[in-house]
Amino acid sequence: MKKQDKRKAPAEAPSKGMSIDAILERLADLKDVALFLQKPRDDPDITESRVTACEAATDIFTALQDEGIKDPEQVRDLIHDYNALAEQYQSLHQKYEVEDKPVRLGNTFICPACNRQIRQLYAAHCWSCGKRLGWGR
Ligand SMILES: [Zn+2]
Repeated sequence: MKKQDKRKAPAEAPSKGMSIDAILERLADLKDVALFLQKPRDDPDITESRVTACEAATDIFTALQDEGIKDPEQVRDLIHDYNALAEQYQSLHQKYEVEDKPVRLGNTFICPACNRQIRQLYAAHCWSCGKRLGWGR
């Protein structure tokens, strides 16, 4: 991607595929502008909060860039993938690591997850579905 002239507005809308590099460049500009435009009668707190916001945003984008992120679409993909994996992990954890008590049915026990008969008393996992079993011993 070619570098844009600093004096021109960005060619793309900010949220449409602007690269992290370009965003960081603009944030540096905005910080300079905030400091440059400050007049003696201006509230110094406002200028300071603008500079602080630019620096905080720069930190966030730099962290993303350090992790190999190049544009907002990659951020969305990454978070989407992360959430999908976290959800998948949570359901695997719930099934294979969290114990549930087998349900007694007459002289036998059935799995609390798949409702199939448990063939071996005190088995750690259901033979059919793998659910972790807790016998409360
Ligand atoms: Zn089962």
